Amino acid sequence: MSFAKASVRDAEVAGKRALVRVDFNVPLDGGRVSDDTRIRAALPTIESLRERGAALVLVSHLGRPKGQVVPELSMAPVAERLSELLGVSVKLAPAVVGDEVKAQAESLDAGEILLLENVRYEPGETENDPRLAEQLAALGDLYVNDAFGAAHRAHASTAGVAEYLPGYAGLLLERELTELGKVVEAPARPLIVILGGAKVSDKVGVIDRFLEIADEILIGGAMCFSFFRAQGIPTGNSLVEEQGIELARKALERAGSVGCDLRLPLDLVLGREFDAATERREIDGVEVPDGWMGLDVGPRTAASYAEAIGRAGTVLWNGPMGAFELEPFAASTRTVAEAVAAAPGTTVIGGGDSVAALQQFGLGEKVDWLSTGGGASLELLEGKKLPGVEALRDA
Ligand code: ADP
Ligand code: MG
Repeated sequence: MSFAKASVRDAEVAGKRALVRVDFNVPLDGGRVSDDTRIRAALPTIESLRERGAALVLVSHLGRPKGQVVPELSMAPVAERLSELLGVSVKLAPAVVGDEVKAQAESLDAGEILLLENVRYEPGETENDPRLAEQLAALGDLYVNDAFGAAHRAHASTAGVAEYLPGYAGLLLERELTELGKVVEAPARPLIVILGGAKVSDKVGVIDRFLEIADEILIGGAMCFSFFRAQGIPTGNSLVEEQGIELARKALERAGSVGCDLRLPLDLVLGREFDAATERREIDGVEVPDGWMGLDVGPRTAASYAEAIGRAGTVLWNGPMGAFELEPFAASTRTVAEAVAAAPGTTVIGGGDSVAALQQFGLGEKVDWLSTGGGASLELLEGKKLPGVEALRDA
């Protein structure tokens, strides 16, 4: 997976208009951007293009308007936040494409920025309609994809447009591919992978791949209950994904034959229901009694996972250890987050909720790489090709 795509760093951009796909799919609160992490992540590419004399046409999706104009999902708050961050005015286009937008794009001077409306207002976006791709391409002289978080989608603005314009990787996209690529290709050993979160089926591809390349896989989160069910251990009312049980059984079987140490929790924290005010109980074991659900892995498990993280050459963490949004069940996610933050090895975090957990604990700055793409990072780590990357020019 070494980086084989043309980089925006090597593109001739002076006096040109760059159509840049960014991931500005940010959370909104009352018409304001409530977390601008993704906007900040795109600044290096935007600034580099401006400094080198390009005009920019930016395009992103925001939420799921499903091919219709949904005013609450307008890019207006994003344009405002981006203007504040850059200290220059960012124009907002009245639509995604069309004559007026084209005229606006053509009137841009070097260094100026036009942000298109939410690209998912257009039904052709998710259908990867070549007509939309061509209309988007008409807005620029070259295409830059910096939207790692959307690179696993073959949409008009992420893949189709590169049929009509020379496509380059943006700096964020490039960095994501490099950092995640290193984990798979040349990790410092031991490589220890921590997997948690809700669903086995989302992550079974990653488990399969890392059974081959990781030294240890540490399982936590609700995902562990599919493994316990596969072993015939009662799970009470814990969140179990039925189709995950068979996947877990196969993973356990393969772990035995490939010699990867696949570890499951030793103890649990239980609640009556998914609620911060629920009755709480710790058990030294993993059999969940009737009327209870496992909402966090226990302190013995967290300590043993933290110990493993401390001796890892490389740590990859995806998925919280428990229902960390509920304070009484956040302890093990916090212990793991602190261990990752303090780890001497290379630390890479993927997954929206794991990144949110680290930031909630104020530890986001202490890891080597926080991936901006949940689904995209999982697909990349699984070894799948990302359409948004494949569409770009070869280096
Ligand atoms: P990520 O976004 O990091 O990949 P996921 O989306 O897979 O993580 O999972 C995050 C969710 O998993 C969180 O909302 C968390 O509450 C939930 N979760 C973790 N452990 C449990 C559990 N034991 N029971 C119920 N939900 C859980
Ligand atoms: Mg998630």
